[in-house]
Amino acid sequence: MSDFILVIDEGTTSTRAIVYDRDFREVALAQEEVALAYPRDGWVEQDGEEIWTRTLSVCRAVIAKAGGAARIAAIGITNQRETTLVWDRKTGKPLAPAIIWQDRRTAAFCESLKAKGYESDVQAETGLLLDPYFSGTKINWVLNNVPGAQARAEAGELAFGTVDSFLLWRLTGGTVHATDVTNASRTLLYRLGIGGEGGWSAAMGEMLGVPAAMLPEVKPSAADFGTAGAALFGAAIPVASILGDQQSALVGQGCLAPGQAKITFGTGAFLVANTGAARPFSENRLLGTMGYALPGADAMALEGSIFNAGTVIKWLRDDLGLIQRADESAAAAASLKDNGGVYMVPALTGLGAPHWDAEARGLIAGLTRAATGAHLVRAGLESVAYQTHDLLAAFAGDGAPIGELRVDGGMVGNDWLMQFLANVCALPVLRPDYREMTALGAAAAAAMQIGWLSAADWAAREVPGKRFEPDMSADARAALLKGWQTALGRALT
Ligand code: ADP
Repeated sequence: MSDFILVIDEGTTSTRAIVYDRDFREVALAQEEVALAYPRDGWVEQDGEEIWTRTLSVCRAVIAKAGGAARIAAIGITNQRETTLVWDRKTGKPLAPAIIWQDRRTAAFCESLKAKGYESDVQAETGLLLDPYFSGTKINWVLNNVPGAQARAEAGELAFGTVDSFLLWRLTGGTVHATDVTNASRTLLYRLGIGGEGGWSAAMGEMLGVPAAMLPEVKPSAADFGTAGAALFGAAIPVASILGDQQSALVGQGCLAPGQAKITFGTGAFLVANTGAARPFSENRLLGTMGYALPGADAMALEGSIFNAGTVIKWLRDDLGLIQRADESAAAAASLKDNGGVYMVPALTGLGAPHWDAEARGLIAGLTRAATGAHLVRAGLESVAYQTHDLLAAFAGDGAPIGELRVDGGMVGNDWLMQFLANVCALPVLRPDYREMTALGAAAAAAMQIGWLSAADWAAREVPGKRFEPDMSADARAALLKGWQTALGRALT
């Protein structure tokens, strides 16, 4: 009997496979790191073959633990979004390394399009901004930099996909070239809209020089995406859901009503608020995006992205050597009575919402002879809360005020950070006991597709967790925010 759902959660730093039972309890988990390469300033790449082989390896490991492929009713996929792969339809081989969402190599191209005055039209069509973050200009880069690629793309020989689409292609033995609405809405090539209102945009394809022949078919987030062949896992398994990681976490957190929001703190941090059927339009440089398309439930969403959150802790650990493990950062921060006036602006790959400054670079401000390694660690953690505060201000400015923060992701195990976040944002922070909301969302969507539950059942589900209430004086908070704003002002270009 098929008792389980297998979720592939292909993130930026690692790829994971998790098996859930019918009650959405985790039965098995396997994880492998995927190497990131930084070949030049602002460039961030991964090897598409490594993404595939490690994903296959973690899937095989959890399928074995779960008692074999025959026990898996469906696969759900959730993935790092915007990351761009272009492959040869005949061989399935990528033409170039995967260009990661953080990669800024197309900053000059984006500036040239902005200088032509295109940004407001782009925002009206796609909900997005002209920023290197999104896939469209990254595809343009591959087509212009791999010899012969533009002509081959026009001839229909090449396929573009975000990571979900690439994995689906490999899982189905090259028979299915598809993606879902949430991933499509991150490409700069998709007209934002529910159902027939949405679709690939001919105007954007023309602006970015991306031929329609290379684009995947766009399906709902819960859909029939084909079958992972028996040759891979020992029995054929249908692929029943695909969602970009942030939208998947929105579903995982049960934010299926307009106004509900979650923020995921992983490599970056992503605040996503459900706007229902209302097409989001931001005056504050937030993004309009597809929230999900589930059986009987469709929504759009407003999103703000911080590019560097967990990366700051990784940098403090791996490059500065100030901590041995990420979770030591809480004790380091707590060892100080205050931040000593030290602030860090972690613009390691530019700044995202609401600043969108691709050229900004990081800085540490307020150093004195009294500053220690612990101050730098604390400044890194604090920067995550300040950036969240700035995002919340932008959401409020767009008429989407957020009353409580549902949090998840690798960083939320840090209790010190969760309390500081509640204090700086002056909002309650709700942390679910089960942290893998991204994977859980894809599992829920797959379960809806195969008839295990409805969207309404999912929205009504109880989520046990811990609540952090703000407990800082208004003066102390204002002083911290002032220090942050001063440092931030120096980093912006
Ligand atoms: P992703 O899905 O983007 O790969 P995760 O959600 O797994 O990322 O989060 C991993 C990130 O969280 C890493 O960058 C790591 O530095 C950070 N992290 C993990 N544990 C902690 C902690 N206790 N405190 C602060 N940061 C942490």
